[in-house]
Amino acid sequence: MKFLFFNKEERHFRARVKAFADKVIAPKAEEVEKGMYPAPLLRKIGEAGFMKHLHPVEYGGTNKGVVHELIVAEEIAGVSAPTDMSRTASATLCAIPISRFGNDEQKKKYLTPLIKGEIIGAIGITEPNVGSDTAAMRTTAVRNGGEYVINGEKRFITNGADADIITLFAVNPEVAQKRGMSAFIFPTDTDGFKVEKIYGLMGMHGMRIAHLRFEDCRIPTENILDRDGMGFNILMDELNTERISIAGEMIGIARAAFQTAVKYSSERVQFNRPISAFEGINFKIADMATLLDAAELLTLRAARMVDNGDRASKESAMAKVFAVDNAFEICNQALQVLGGVGYTTEYPVERYLRDVRIGMIGGGTSEIMRFLIQREVYKEYGIKAELEKSAIPVPVPNPPRSKAEMQENTYS
Ligand SMILES: Cc1cc2nc3c(=O)[nH]c(=O)nc-3n(C[C@H](O)[C@H](O)[C@H](O)COP(=O)(O)OP(=O)(O)OC[C@H]3O[C@@H](n4cnc5c(N)ncnc54)[C@H](O)[C@@H]3O)c2cc1C
Repeated sequence: MKFLFFNKEERHFRARVKAFADKVIAPKAEEVEKGMYPAPLLRKIGEAGFMKHLHPVEYGGTNKGVVHELIVAEEIAGVSAPTDMSRTASATLCAIPISRFGNDEQKKKYLTPLIKGEIIGAIGITEPNVGSDTAAMRTTAVRNGGEYVINGEKRFITNGADADIITLFAVNPEVAQKRGMSAFIFPTDTDGFKVEKIYGLMGMHGMRIAHLRFEDCRIPTENILDRDGMGFNILMDELNTERISIAGEMIGIARAAFQTAVKYSSERVQFNRPISAFEGINFKIADMATLLDAAELLTLRAARMVDNGDRASKESAMAKVFAVDNAFEICNQALQVLGGVGYTTEYPVERYLRDVRIGMIGGGTSEIMRFLIQREVYKEYGIKAELEKSAIPVPVPNPPRSKAEMQENTYS
């Protein structure tokens, strides 16, 4: 009865993922928190078949769709969020462009091992000077005979130091349309590829994000994913599903914090009564429960829309911004319910609060999500002039963009 808004098959799938997460991932969560990169867990998730749902059956997937991705994200993140973020970087973010835009040969060679958990993937978008404004990308891919020569830098790349392949976005001067961007499958054993740094993180310990350098890296021309200058569209398509995954992960973390608070409040006695008897505590529990369900419903709507073939750019942005803002609030209130012990490492709630903070940044910041929502709302009301007036100024781009392009959305 708990998840009435999921159908029977989805509830069964959730039960399978939860049983796996409790048995296989949870016992390793502490080690991951202490800094263990979860490569062995990624392999086990792949072997269990929980990387297959977004990908076609003929390449080893189940093609079940984004609702299944949401369920996996919630259940695995609920026990080890950094493990799930490493999973999504590989089997979702890296794999979606290959799955949706790659050719038969690319899918056989890269997608199948990726979703079996045999190899690790990453996605390379962000650069030192390119964050929210992805269309200002500077890394270049210049064709030279049968090869593309890649030069540039990427930063904050999840799995970047550990990946076998990176779905890499770079400026392709041959592609005049779509902001000159192309997507490539970049094998990390290519000469000239260097991991410059692994960043220390506030939360999500165990997840590894890297600064990468590409110096005259030569990859075969057959590694390009889009022959028609579709790179920017590939990126936008991937981001819609990524935002739903992140919303799911944040819901999973928040639910774990909520469950800890519910249990603790019923056991902790002060003034001769369990603290759950006090309105100051039980109103918090009621609000947390309501916000959790609201976040779940918004995210489920976005997931179902993407599964139905809708663009769902506004709905995935709404799901992400609502889920992450409220997941942060829920973790914060859960810590408050635990009092002093909540601030210690005796309970995982302080970890949940640190982990959940990334949701407001990765996959597009909360400010950019709000911008996307506002833009779509104005479009729905046909208020084009107002939309243009309200467009956020874009810094001087590289490569140069036309005025018309700058008025379109270019935000990750
Ligand atoms: C843990 C972690 C994992 C990550 N994993 C990956 C990965 O795997 N691959 C990858 O490519 N990237 C990854 N990223 C990068 C992430 O996507 C970017 O950090 C994010 O898109 C924001 O870019 P930025 O950090 O450059 O911030 P900036 O774009 O410089 O933004 C700084 C601040 O300005 C605000 N801002 C910017 N423009 C506007 C505007 N027009 N209107 C209002 N506010 C604005 C932002 O919201 C933010 O608050 C990761 C980051 C982290 C921290």
